[in-house]
Amino acid sequence: MTSLPKKLLAADEPTPVAVENAGGASAFVLVADHAGNAIPRVLGRLGVAEAELQRHIAWDIGIAGLGRVLADALDAPLIRQTYSRLVIDCNRPLDAASSIAEVSEHTAIPGNVGLSEAEKAARADEIFRPYHDRIEAELEHRRQAGRATALISLHSFTPVFKGVARPWHAAVLYNRDPRFAHGLMALLNAEKQFTVGDNAPYAVSDATDYTIPVHAERRGLHHVLIEIRQDLIADENGQRDWALRLARLLPLAVQRLSR
Ligand SMILES: [Zn+2]
Repeated sequence: MTSLPKKLLAADEPTPVAVENAGGASAFVLVADHAGNAIPRVLGRLGVAEAELQRHIAWDIGIAGLGRVLADALDAPLIRQTYSRLVIDCNRPLDAASSIAEVSEHTAIPGNVGLSEAEKAARADEIFRPYHDRIEAELEHRRQAGRATALISLHSFTPVFKGVARPWHAAVLYNRDPRFAHGLMALLNAEKQFTVGDNAPYAVSDATDYTIPVHAERRGLHHVLIEIRQDLIADENGQRDWALRLARLLPLAVQRLSR
């Protein structure tokens, strides 16, 4: 008798990908790789204290709320991941050591230590792949329909990392193609109230990122990875404020490309 394959997600648990404003008519597609902090029940909270699962190590605080307002304001679809990045990081190549992190900042993740290949594969098959397949389908559908598309990847970063305070309010990240990112950065700088990171505190690379290299660069789409500092979008007012700012500036950033 063969044993049944082990399922990660039960039927009553959240789907790994949520889509809002699916029929959005604008040129923007919004994605949020770290928007959720759900943990599959069978993983027993990964052995991590509940308070840790509310921290930035588990998800991008504020981004789901910001993304919803931004999707509405731009009339753009938002495709967001619902499970914690600690289960599997949907912006890491599957072969990266940080794909299923054993330590995040200073926190050990016991439930990620000593996994079998089958356990790793279940996380990839039930969380990572459905999310990226949905993005792929959206972009392919738009390509076939001849629709212009700019891919906007939404993230947030902790104001203090490993004890060091960060000076930036927001940041634009990119890999091979800085054009859209630098246009948006110029517009943010013109507001004269923000310190904007240029590929800082993180930069996009093939080794450390998945969404921009795979979905945007390979397709030749205009793109930017936006990072907002989490204390600025911790509540609804802040999320709305930044969402409406980005809704005003993103179309201007597109216009700059055709000048
Ligand atoms: Zn993130």
